Amino acid sequence: MEIQNTATWADLGLSSEMLEQIKQANYNTPTAVQAQAIPLVLQGFDVLASSQTGSGKTASFVIPAVERFKGKNGTYILALSPTREIAQQTGAVFEAFASAYGMKVAVCIGGASIPVEKEALAASPHIIVATPGRLCDHLERGNVWLDFIQCLIFDEADRMLEMGFAKQIDTITEQIPKERQTLMFSATFSPTVEKLARKAMREPKEVIIKRTVESAPKIDQRLFWISEDQKLGNLIRILRHEKGTMFVFVKAKERAYQVWRSLQNAGFESVTYIHSDLPQDARELAVADFKSGKYRVIIATDVMGRGIDVDDVAHVVNYDVPREAADYVHRIGRTGRRGLTGHASTFAVPGKDDKAIKDIEKLRGVPAPKPGERPARPQGDGPQGNRPQRSRPRDDHRPRSENKEKLQSVKTPEMPQKTVAAAAAGPQTKPGILSRIISFFKR
Ligand code: AMP
Repeated sequence: MEIQNTATWADLGLSSEMLEQIKQANYNTPTAVQAQAIPLVLQGFDVLASSQTGSGKTASFVIPAVERFKGKNGTYILALSPTREIAQQTGAVFEAFASAYGMKVAVCIGGASIPVEKEALAASPHIIVATPGRLCDHLERGNVWLDFIQCLIFDEADRMLEMGFAKQIDTITEQIPKERQTLMFSATFSPTVEKLARKAMREPKEVIIKRTVESAPKIDQRLFWISEDQKLGNLIRILRHEKGTMFVFVKAKERAYQVWRSLQNAGFESVTYIHSDLPQDARELAVADFKSGKYRVIIATDVMGRGIDVDDVAHVVNYDVPREAADYVHRIGRTGRRGLTGHASTFAVPGKDDKAIKDIEKLRGVPAPKPGERPARPQGDGPQGNRPQRSRPRDDHRPRSENKEKLQSVKTPEMPQKTVAAAAAGPQTKPGILSRIISFFKR
């Protein structure tokens, strides 16, 4: 089912009170996933949806789930999220739409206080939002029962499975009545996601969101084949050029701190970082300060970056190439939204990142430049195509000789903008795989 979204909120079968709440939230028009998923969820179907962060997927399950269960007493809704941050955001969206009906939300996440969560669970919340690990913890302690759940939501199912939550998901699912509605949202559909869908869902309706080239974000993507030693200098060059907000992705948590430290030493103070070893309140503060503009740059790992709900970043830097090609799409999806042209720069080390870059190439269906190769500059397709190349940054006052080597090694312009836009839409729709899961159910 691939449709252009021409629906309005009033077309989706929602109550007038809910329409009023949506108006208050300033959601003028439903997004594609909302237009397609909401009527199906309201009718009680299982729904399997391909969806990206930023597509409005959270509201696409929150709004109809609240509509279905408002006015009923009991814990009917359980949403599983891959990370604490995503769980908190989802909890906040549930709060926003459910509190008007007196519905209570309990959020259970690693790192938070067990006794406080136990109390929230004991107060018979209508909705539980949890990370799988923490929910299993509460199940083992006897703090919660799941036999009332009638609507089970897997948010970012691919990410939960990649993070190794398969066992916990099984434990949780086994404790929920089979007579239920199951909703699954996933950006990608690997065999493990398919397996979970087959196990947990019954004849799901599919929702495939395929971004058109026009609606996909416009992202100017660049690949820099450089050595490990050149990465910091290159990042600093970009920081000097880029006046907007930046998201810097690194491969490991120690790395987030190291890069932050090096930038501090180089005099860049408007930079913060976030990784999973930081206490929860420190993470929340870092994200809040980035959102409020106190910091212009945030350094994060993939797991942490996923949960940060910021969608208008000017520039994404892949300081380290992502381990999974799908993460490349998630990462760069932070920029180029709201009709603006975004920028994404990837640092790859020859001999080390060749395979990862090949995987990204495969995913995007577009060849990337090889180390030392300088492919033809795209003609007039995007801002980079039109823009005359400056030989050195305006605000770089170092002698030319010092710049020369880096400039030669890093300039690898990228593909035409249209292809970039299509690639940015990424692997997410995978209609073939979705159809396979669906056809499995139809068999
Ligand atoms: P999500 O994909 O659920 O992470 O949502 C991304 C962002 O879009 C969130 O900040 C939402 O508040 C916002 N959002 C969701 N639906 C709409 C809508 N229909 N119109 C405008 N903004 C929306």
